[in-house]
Amino acid sequence: MTTLGRRACLVAMVALPAACARRPRCRRCGMVLDPRGRFHAELRGPGDAREGFDTPKCALTSLLSRSPDPARALWVTGYYGGALVPAADVLFAVGSDVLGPMGHDLVPVERARAAAFGRDHGAKQLLPLEQITRELAEGMLGICDTGRDGAVTPRARRSTRSRRRTTRGARHHRSSAARS
Ligand SMILES: [Zn+2]
Repeated sequence: MTTLGRRACLVAMVALPAACARRPRCRRCGMVLDPRGRFHAELRGPGDAREGFDTPKCALTSLLSRSPDPARALWVTGYYGGALVPAADVLFAVGSDVLGPMGHDLVPVERARAAAFGRDHGAKQLLPLEQITRELAEGMLGICDTGRDGAVTPRARRSTRSRRRTTRGARHHRSSAARS
């Protein structure tokens, strides 16, 4: 290898992990965030503060594991519109056949179309934000050992990795569900 080639290689070895590390990740499960993802969620406030999550269940678990804070608001991606909307504008579908990137989720559906979604996708419940409990959200996440502030723990990270293996299947299932 030429000196130049070796130097380029070294630069790449140093630069690549740094670039990966800079990509924002879900604080709850460690997944890389896609702000345009169909299941992206955010906790907004106070002020311009934004905290992103890859799924509604991660955002809800984080929100509900802290003391209520009126300065922080949950925004979720509406199933039909595909845009971030205040959580008050949606109902969360429980037990539907629509899977998120991490499997079963609390799917945010625009209120006007929630009943139709429930019929089409077999939702067992359609709940407003105020009826989502921490237990329900954590049950979706499949982890119980959350930190007091909702931060992810080593055991939670391990279960995240094992769930990641099913992501491809879940994505396929979701896209076929979206077509129906
Ligand atoms: Zn997450």
